[in-house]
Amino acid sequence: MSRLRSDHQELQRLSRALRTLSGSNRALLRVQDETTLLEEICRVVVEVAGYRAVSVCRKEDDESRTVTRLAAHGYSVPLEELPTISWADDDRGRAATGTAIRTGRPCMFNVHSEDFPVVWREVSTREGFGSLLAMPLTVEGEIFGALLIAAPEADAFGDDERQVLYEVADDLAFGLQTLRLKRRREQAEQEILHLNRALRTRAAVNSALIHATDERAMLKQICDVAVQECGYRLAWIGFMEGEDGHDVRPAAWSGVDDGFMSLPRRWKDGGLLRRLQEGRPWIVHDVARDTTYPFPEEAQRRGFASTIGLPLRQDGQLLGTFHILSGERDAFDEQETSLLMAMAADLAFGLGALRARTAAAAAEETIRRMAWFDPATGLPNRTRLRTLLTEAIASCTEARQPLALLRVGLDRFREINETLGDVAADRLIREVADRLRGVVGEDGPLARTADGEFAVVLPRGGAEHAQQAARAIQAVLADPVPSDGVLLDARCSIGISLFPGQGSDADALLRRSSMALERARSSSGVTLFQGSLDRDSAQRLSLMADLRSAIEHDELQLYCQPKLRLASRDVCGAEALLRWRHPRLGLVNPGSFIKLAESAGLITPLTYWVLEAALRQSYIWREQGLSIPLSINLSARDLHDPKLIERIGGAMATWGTEPGSMEFELTESALMDDPAGALETLTRLKQLDVSLAIDDFGTGYSSLSYLQRLPVDLIKIDQSFVSDMRTNKDSAAIVRSTIDLAHNLDMGVIAEGVEDRSTFDCLAELGCDMAQGFCISEPIPAERFGEWRSTLH
Ligand code: C2E
Ligand code: CA
Ligand code: CA
Repeated sequence: MSRLRSDHQELQRLSRALRTLSGSNRALLRVQDETTLLEEICRVVVEVAGYRAVSVCRKEDDESRTVTRLAAHGYSVPLEELPTISWADDDRGRAATGTAIRTGRPCMFNVHSEDFPVVWREVSTREGFGSLLAMPLTVEGEIFGALLIAAPEADAFGDDERQVLYEVADDLAFGLQTLRLKRRREQAEQEILHLNRALRTRAAVNSALIHATDERAMLKQICDVAVQECGYRLAWIGFMEGEDGHDVRPAAWSGVDDGFMSLPRRWKDGGLLRRLQEGRPWIVHDVARDTTYPFPEEAQRRGFASTIGLPLRQDGQLLGTFHILSGERDAFDEQETSLLMAMAADLAFGLGALRARTAAAAAEETIRRMAWFDPATGLPNRTRLRTLLTEAIASCTEARQPLALLRVGLDRFREINETLGDVAADRLIREVADRLRGVVGEDGPLARTADGEFAVVLPRGGAEHAQQAARAIQAVLADPVPSDGVLLDARCSIGISLFPGQGSDADALLRRSSMALERARSSSGVTLFQGSLDRDSAQRLSLMADLRSAIEHDELQLYCQPKLRLASRDVCGAEALLRWRHPRLGLVNPGSFIKLAESAGLITPLTYWVLEAALRQSYIWREQGLSIPLSINLSARDLHDPKLIERIGGAMATWGTEPGSMEFELTESALMDDPAGALETLTRLKQLDVSLAIDDFGTGYSSLSYLQRLPVDLIKIDQSFVSDMRTNKDSAAIVRSTIDLAHNLDMGVIAEGVEDRSTFDCLAELGCDMAQGFCISEPIPAERFGEWRSTLH
């Protein structure tokens, strides 16, 4: 009977243990956090399985070896009112839980037995405990705590029941371990996230600092990065101000604001200010709880949960602060904080550097203004003029244009200054500056070079232009300047120096204009620098200016030089050669002005002029029954004229010129300047069906393979070889081989500069096709060509 009952009891006990096991396993599968898991298991033990009470305890590693109850169920009093447990090896610690923790093995007690610690007897009896079973919970290889189960009857927990409950304890420990690992992983992820955003903020701050030129824009950019890229809710930067430096004026911010930034930020000498002054961060982990936070309601309403204030310090002084607000509580952990602190230090340093940079730039600007400009007129001074002049010379050199420097000296300035004083003198100077500006306009720089002295740079100004400008200046300064009832004499003398003729650098021009001014002062006039200047370049310079008007005023004239066929002695063509009837200098040969025209950018109008004149002449000859080709010289620069072909085609159409009656001569050296470009232009020119000749052949080092590719009809042997071929063997050899070469390439050949009969005969013997030179005729005015020809036979 008793056996049966005990069997039945055993079964009941086993089944409550099994209910515990399945209930706790279900909880383990379902529950995601530790507290809920423990509470759920405790509930299962008492309410589902039918044990009297249960508790889960954690071992503390403190000195007094206490044990903390994490969860409990079935007790008559709340957890906090239960007596404290210990795992020390003393009376209190020798109960079930303490022993299980201390030994790492399960511990079972019959509450009524003698070995049960006396201190625990009362509670246990009150709570109705008969037996106790404590099982250690091993988490990650270490004793975490214990699971204590109390049964109402004495001598409970037989072998089978115990085995099942051990399994419950093992599963619980395993569940705790899993949850703990999971939590740790989540924490790590969170940390990485935080760290990452702090790192990103710092990187962005550094990049903003490096590229910054404007402080406010930079601060705004930094705040934007903190919010938009790093996920903070609000970031703002402010600077300390006010008499005591305790007010903060926000300078830039980004994120959820809603008027938050307009809340007064006057920092009393409180914790926040002190911490920042000492270079420490001010952290509020929870704006709702931390009483030091100044506006908890406002912050919460906008979704801020925690905040950090970072000091911006320079040389130990608090300059301002960088505040970051986060939507999460406890957002700023140690690592993130130290990164943000480093970032704030970078920012403070960068701000200092930027401010220093800005200050330096402002100082530089002042120095530049003082060093380069005349304070009375605001005009460039002598130093600045030198730079401006150098620049002007460089661009005139590039454009192959002349330039003039005018020095304007006020004749009576010293006198006025001495008798009437600085104020009157300054008034005079300002008025003169205004008048000069009126004459010069935006044309070129104007400068004040000395007390009573100005300088004007005239780009593109030749001698004549400069003299005109000088006269205009004298005219505007002829009227006296009224000042306090007196009239101040503003009349001036002007000295001029010219580039390139009288100097190719700023110093030379300044020196020479100064010398010219000295000379001019003696006559109150205008003087062009003379001195040791070489006459040639001055002449060239004024020629250049004159050439422009020569084209307009029809001072050019077309000359023609005939070409003879050596075999038949027939006139087989003529070369168009340019002459200039200069109003003062008389007939000027192209040798003196073609180069000048090239360097002054005048070659194109010149070429067009010749083209028109030659085609008109050709037309006239045709009318007179003379049908010979007329050849026109093209210069190297013509080859780069994009309109050349069109222009030639147009002129030919205008005059009804037959293609066969047109020829163009290009010097070998012009072709070799830009072989590819020349080949292209010649090819297009050839499409007009005109003939092409290589002029001055033998002087330009062209290669045979290049010549073969050129669409050229004729080679003109340079006169330097022809003129002495009778006396110089080398020249003779060159002439001979050029004739052979031309014929091998299927080209015609003409000798130029044939001055005597014997050369003429010699060339005929060598098989040269044509000849041109003084022994046939000098170049003659085109209109007299027909006349000359009729005298031939
Ligand atoms: P070029 O094309 O070689 O012209 C031949 C030059 O030799 C001409 O000089 C001509 O007067 C000269 N001459 C002719 N026969 C003899 C002679 O038997 N002995 C000597 N010593 N010289 C002779 P010119 O007319 O003074 O022209 C000089 C250069 O100016 C020309 O050399 C040509 O390169 C250039 N030129 C002339 N007119 C024009 C033109 O309309 N356009 C271009 N681009 N250049 C031209
Ligand atoms: Ca020629
Ligand atoms: Ca020639």
